[in-house]
Amino acid sequence: MTEDTLVRPPDAARSTGIPKIGFVSLGCPKALTDSELILTRLSAEGYATSKTFAGADLVIVNTCGFIDDAVKESLATIGEALAENGKVVVTGCLGAKAGEGGGNLVRQMHPSVLAVTGPHATQEVMDAVHLHVPKPHDPFVDLVPARPSIGIKLTPKHYAYLKISEGCNHRCTFCIIPSLRGDLVSRPVGDVLAEAAALFESGVKELLVISQDTSAYGVDVRYRTGFWNGRPVKTQLLELCERLAEIAEPHGAWVRLHYVYPYPHVDAVLPLMATGRILPYLDVPFQHSHPDVLRRMKRPASGEKNLERLARWRELCPELVVRSTFIAGFPGETEAEFEDLLAFLREAKIDRAGCFAYSAVDGATANQIPGMLPIELREERRARVMAVTEAVSIEKLARRVGATMQVLVDSAPGLGRKGGVGRSYADAPEIDGRVRLLPPEKASKTLKAGEFTRAKIVAVDGHDLVGIPI
Ligand code: SF4
Repeated sequence: MTEDTLVRPPDAARSTGIPKIGFVSLGCPKALTDSELILTRLSAEGYATSKTFAGADLVIVNTCGFIDDAVKESLATIGEALAENGKVVVTGCLGAKAGEGGGNLVRQMHPSVLAVTGPHATQEVMDAVHLHVPKPHDPFVDLVPARPSIGIKLTPKHYAYLKISEGCNHRCTFCIIPSLRGDLVSRPVGDVLAEAAALFESGVKELLVISQDTSAYGVDVRYRTGFWNGRPVKTQLLELCERLAEIAEPHGAWVRLHYVYPYPHVDAVLPLMATGRILPYLDVPFQHSHPDVLRRMKRPASGEKNLERLARWRELCPELVVRSTFIAGFPGETEAEFEDLLAFLREAKIDRAGCFAYSAVDGATANQIPGMLPIELREERRARVMAVTEAVSIEKLARRVGATMQVLVDSAPGLGRKGGVGRSYADAPEIDGRVRLLPPEKASKTLKAGEFTRAKIVAVDGHDLVGIPI
């Protein structure tokens, strides 16, 4: 374990008398927001953080249990923390996973860990920390509220993830998330909006709305009416988006939606995107096109006519950029079903697409579906999907050359005199392409991370665009 893989929240106390916690955060943006909550509580209670396992009084490992490689990485990290420190608390998705014979997998592999919790378990993690490394007493720190509306963020200062719900009501056959995270629980809309407002106040310029199913927000509470700023607001996708757009506007900030399913009620959000108040960008995990495969996958909105829905969305918002993911070689996928997927991809013209060759996940019900395809065939189909999606993506990127785009600068050393790197509305951080910024032509023009610039697009470079700041 190198120092750099350990999380270093700001303002870690340096006094030797203060208990120090090591923290490793693995997994997806949803796990990252869990890490942020735990680190915020630790900091509020006066714990410091350690840059090394050896220098900590206890180590917390927030794990991922989604695919086999993630499980291996999480188990290896726990092993390292145990070897170097010995006092380890495990949290996150892997902590909820059963091993051989039904016992807890983490405990089976690493019996000496002090405590194991599932995801979204800040209080249980804090209880374990208190038990093994008592809370420092500080009359000032003890007055800090347990859950300030904005806590420690592990993302760069200018963008942040906003988690609007936990869990999922669907039961996709390839996925074990509902068994790890439970059914959908929507956060109260007033809390979500208060957190968004605090984030924008703190300088966040891009808010990424995440959940397991953003389109389902509020279903569990029957779209209950909550309050924000003294005004009633429904726990529902459209009203959430309207309020977020309103809060973002004075800060000139972006709001981007992830994990939205192609339900008819999503159409209502598109006019907001057409005006740019919510970014015209939708992350829609289609996974496949053929109705029989979607049924075997038990996908949400599997009965919808997705090509028609996409056409309708683009009619409502011509600038819309769609990102999606697909699975090639799902059990029982015939050549005809796969050809249907390729035809869909050619017609749907998804701007940004990723594709996985199907791989069995321990505990997923898809493992019982007959017709597992040989790995070579699954990989070959993945490569065929990628060939189609990349051609579509490059063609769409090429159309941007000559345009002027708003770019959020992610990095620009030396005020950008030698250029920098940023993203347009079409690029979510970590998963999409970027805009490579050339040195500005005007000597007076500077670039700064976390600020917007306009850029004239002059070329395409792989999945990225190249632009001159203006
Ligand atoms: S929608 Fe399906 S894939 Fe996504 S979390 Fe829910 S069950 Fe898993």
